Amino acid sequence: MSFITLAPRHPKSRSEMTDLVVKVDDLVGHLEKQRPIRGQLDISLRVGDTTVSGPMTVSGNIRGTVDGVQAGFDVEATAHMRCVRCLVEWDQPVTATGAQHFSKIPDEDGYAVVDGEVDMGGPAKDELSLSLPAAPIHDENCLGLCPICGNDLNIDPCDGHGDDSDSPFAVLKDLFDS
Ligand SMILES: [Zn+2]
Ligand SMILES: [Zn+2]
Repeated sequence: MSFITLAPRHPKSRSEMTDLVVKVDDLVGHLEKQRPIRGQLDISLRVGDTTVSGPMTVSGNIRGTVDGVQAGFDVEATAHMRCVRCLVEWDQPVTATGAQHFSKIPDEDGYAVVDGEVDMGGPAKDELSLSLPAAPIHDENCLGLCPICGNDLNIDPCDGHGDDSDSPFAVLKDLFDS
């Protein structure tokens, strides 16, 4: 099995050294033809409290259709997440699987065969975005932060707020209550 080389079209910066533009003019209209694809692109993406900043790897297969090509692909990247309850941060591998048809006429997302090439970057990024959690939780049992003192309740149960008679505001409360 031989992967085609995705040659850089604009070798200006490191982030553009590899991209996901694939030549497909020999596949269009040839239903019997297909080839594997593999490439990488540096991306910057934010969905709520999850960000991806770095390489996105795309691998899959492109085959000819009557009026274009059909791509099936897997996307891999490392996401940086922040727990919405306790604000702890961590990195986590994320994957997504997608499919995209490219014809000569752009679809509603604007994807098409242009100059005999397709750009897998857009569809791969779309699919990855959809798979990212907007409100990540580091553990489903995460207790979050104490709303009164901000303690991480996973580390310290913080049970000192039950009786507020010691609080300087207790005097005011008595005043309003009377
Ligand atoms: Zn948490
Ligand atoms: Zn507290």
